Amino acid sequence: MKYDAAIIGAGTAGVYAAYELTRLCPDAKIVVLEMGGDIYSRSCPIVAGKVRDCISCKPCSIMSGFGGAGAFSDGKYNFTTQFGGWLGEYLPDNELLALIDYVDSVNVSFGATEEVFSTETPEARELEKRALEHDLHLLQAKCKHLGTERNLKILSNIYEHLREKCEFRFRTAVEHIARKDGGFVLTTADGDTVECRFCIAAPGRCGAEWFSECCGKLGLSLTNNQVDLGVRVELPAKVFEHITSVVYESKLIYRTKLYGDHVRTFCKNPYGHVVAENVDVLITVNGHSYADPKLRSENTNFALLVSNRFTEPFDQPYQYGKHIASLSNMLGGGVLVQRFGDLVRGVRTNEHRLAHSFTRPTLNATPGDLSLVLPKRHMDNIIEMIYALDKIAPGTANYDTLLYGVEVKFYSARLKLTRELESELPGFYAIGDGAGITRGLAQAGASGVVAARAIAQKLK
Ligand SMILES: Cc1cc2nc3c(=O)[nH]c(=O)nc-3n(C[C@H](O)[C@H](O)[C@H](O)COP(=O)(O)OP(=O)(O)OC[C@H]3O[C@@H](n4cnc5c(N)ncnc54)[C@H](O)[C@@H]3O)c2cc1C
Repeated sequence: MKYDAAIIGAGTAGVYAAYELTRLCPDAKIVVLEMGGDIYSRSCPIVAGKVRDCISCKPCSIMSGFGGAGAFSDGKYNFTTQFGGWLGEYLPDNELLALIDYVDSVNVSFGATEEVFSTETPEARELEKRALEHDLHLLQAKCKHLGTERNLKILSNIYEHLREKCEFRFRTAVEHIARKDGGFVLTTADGDTVECRFCIAAPGRCGAEWFSECCGKLGLSLTNNQVDLGVRVELPAKVFEHITSVVYESKLIYRTKLYGDHVRTFCKNPYGHVVAENVDVLITVNGHSYADPKLRSENTNFALLVSNRFTEPFDQPYQYGKHIASLSNMLGGGVLVQRFGDLVRGVRTNEHRLAHSFTRPTLNATPGDLSLVLPKRHMDNIIEMIYALDKIAPGTANYDTLLYGVEVKFYSARLKLTRELESELPGFYAIGDGAGITRGLAQAGASGVVAARAIAQKLK
């Protein structure tokens, strides 16, 4: 075999697999195949201010390249087993927390902050109690905010460290995976082949559909039944300041009285910016915030997501989510924005009304009517959640609170894996978001370490 191990994808999971494998087996021949560019050549024309609308670069620089989908994120690193993935179904909680701590310690050695926001403080406990009084449930998690600009610096440091220890092939998309002589042969889009004894697939969300197809061809079965849909809320940072200064990333869950559905807050960005995101040629919404106070806005943004779990016979949650997102693209040419008051009154927000908003939007989205995009059930759930949040953060339900849509969180299909994250094919490991087992930086990194340690054991 030419390589001892090949890693597909240089996102968080692939990077930590490479880090751990090169640390434990410095003599092993390891190659990382990544369809995007290295950390220095990743550049989104929208972020660079060259274009206003997404021009669908292939591959998308936001989602692909060294550092993966997390590279341009503001790096909220959550120390918890309660959200951010399902690795807790493979490992005991204490082992998973130790892995998350380990990945953090590596991050710190490459320049990450040591400051941690905790929910264990008296102020956080008081907040938890106040939320409970209104049937809002605060998930407990320590959290670090790396910051958008610092995150890139940390990744550059890791890249400089790793490039001396293993081979990276950028702009190299793997198209086909086949078994060969007890190992694997990977065929790239250019027609090159890479032979390896062990293969770690870490394709992330952007490679999940391709990966599902590959697994089907390899005879591996997958399951998928969920998609989360909702909006991004933007309001003056002062409204949530008493919460964001205590728990940086407060995850609140609420069960609506009307339908009994769960709505949750997700990805809170104090003093942040709302941004458009390209998901498979569809424009959806997301948010981030800088660590540097000079780069901050006056607003806080966060997602409100409603989970949809489908039952038989429907098994295409990805197509369902894309279909809803395509409606907002059809109506507004991209992301739509509506004032909460207009939504409740049943009127469209137009340019004129938006110009009168006290809350100034940080994203140049098209004013419109979200009730023409999201199903009524979702809209009702979101409105009820906003009124619930208004009880612990008065001002949330103000007329000028801005809602951007749609925000979609897709779930990758899940493979059957051992506790070492090895698939039913011996030697073939699947990690990170693309394997459907993680949904955040901490658990994605931890999954890479798990697979690397298992392979290192076998290589030794
Ligand atoms: C805008 C944004 C903000 C986020 N913010 C946060 C946050 O604050 N905190 C948090 O915990 N999480 C956050 N996340 C989620 C987090 O980034 C992901 O959970 C994490 O990056 C998953 O890591 P991964 O390695 O599994 O996948 P990814 O990071 O997606 O990496 C997968 C890599 O595989 C490559 N690839 C795919 N297919 C192929 C192929 N066929 N051949 C070669 N290469 C391939 C891709 O190009 C990509 O670089 C955010 C995500 C986004 C998009």
